[in-house]
Amino acid sequence: MNTTSIHIGLVRWTPVAIAALLGFSFGHLNSEKIPTDEPVPAPEFSATPSAKSKGAEGRPNIILVTIDTVRADHIGAYGHSNATTPFIDSIARDGVLFERAYSGSSWTVPAMASLFTSMYPYQHNVDRGGVVSGTATLQPGLSGEIDTLAEQLKAGGYTTFGVATNVHLSKPLGFAQGFDHFVNQGFNNAPWVHQQVADWTEEMAASAPFFLWLHYFDPHDKYAARRPFADRFNLEAMEDFPELAVETPRSRDKRFRSISGQVMRDLKKDPFTETPLGIQTMETLYDSEIRYTDKWLKRTLSMVDPKETAILILSADHGEEFRDHGGLGHRRSLYQELTQVPFIIRSPGQIPPSTRLSEPVSTLDIYPTLLGLVGLDPVKGLAGIDLSDAATEATEPERRPLLQSTRRSGEVLRSVVAFPMRLIVNETTGGVELFDIENDAKEERNIAMDRPDEVGRLKALIGTIMTDTPVHQANDVSQSLDPELLEHLRGLGYIDNEAASP
Ligand SMILES: [Zn+2]
Repeated sequence: MNTTSIHIGLVRWTPVAIAALLGFSFGHLNSEKIPTDEPVPAPEFSATPSAKSKGAEGRPNIILVTIDTVRADHIGAYGHSNATTPFIDSIARDGVLFERAYSGSSWTVPAMASLFTSMYPYQHNVDRGGVVSGTATLQPGLSGEIDTLAEQLKAGGYTTFGVATNVHLSKPLGFAQGFDHFVNQGFNNAPWVHQQVADWTEEMAASAPFFLWLHYFDPHDKYAARRPFADRFNLEAMEDFPELAVETPRSRDKRFRSISGQVMRDLKKDPFTETPLGIQTMETLYDSEIRYTDKWLKRTLSMVDPKETAILILSADHGEEFRDHGGLGHRRSLYQELTQVPFIIRSPGQIPPSTRLSEPVSTLDIYPTLLGLVGLDPVKGLAGIDLSDAATEATEPERRPLLQSTRRSGEVLRSVVAFPMRLIVNETTGGVELFDIENDAKEERNIAMDRPDEVGRLKALIGTIMTDTPVHQANDVSQSLDPELLEHLRGLGYIDNEAASP
């Protein structure tokens, strides 16, 4: 395990803060997505993948794909009507799809820390953060004392490769733990991911079995109108902006990203503000980004795993809300549109095709499940469970309560899924919402007033789980900012406030 703890007090002026005040930008941490969509040459493996896909211990390669901000119900295999994900749908047809998969949180930092540690956010305590000048800041780092999924796979003989496109998933913040090769150059797009993998293919082929983690960022706002998908999805905005139709695809993408970014900011400030783009159009742009990611994912995976012999897990850190419960973006609530994510595993010869399991599971289960699928020893003390038997035998896993949490403007929200019920508690205000998620999957009818006993039982259940599980201190990393300085930076317009971050 790595120990990357850098203890610097909250009142220190950090290089990040000083640079931000002076107006410097960190060139390598570009806050804009790279707009290029140039074809990237696909190098050949130096050996045939089938010969290299088994290591000395006979273990298969593993590819973990996480797509930022993708809610489960915008994936075709989860029932979305727009043809957003033909490739991901094909993966689901070849393996197992968990119909009710919950993230541990509703934004990147705690969700991904939970996925990599199989611990809930209150356990790893990596649950704060923001973005200043394209750099993650005010963010605790993942403790080096925790054994991550990548560390366990490395210890099990895997050569580990990680490509991250979100500034919050960086090496200083602890997310490179266990990776032999790791790259994160700030917010980046799918062609950039492809290029990183292309640069590694020879090394990957030579060092099998490998574990490859790919984190995509494209569906995160600001949304571009990805051609030709946006056109096919009947983008209403094309009629509102006829001048864009004559622009080049690249300049049009850029214009739409700019428009949608401004609309998102305006709507977050005031949901009732006048806007040139309706919610439906924003969702269509979002869908075009998912479709674009699906296209590039297919291209990248066919380069690195052309014979589809690797174990492939696809999931997301959190979803996105389009006023389903009044809000926009993510992080500020825990409703299903934010916490239900895709969770699909393909393991040829091991998991029967077209398997669908409906018992609620968690992305914290990915870690123990991967160990189970490749026959590595289980790790004690994980909050997730090994789903490999359920997947390979196509049987429902055991039922158990699942937790989610987030913070918003000083408030702490917690939730428990205890199927068929779900309770969401605002610990700060005491507000509660209870949903029967079996009959009200969209969580539209709060029945807390009708079921006070159930509310009490589930509140107590959250308390019991939290009391019975170990807790770790997060690292205080150098990107913490003093609150006064933070206010000053905010006044200067340097802070992308929390609604606009990860
Ligand atoms: Zn995210």
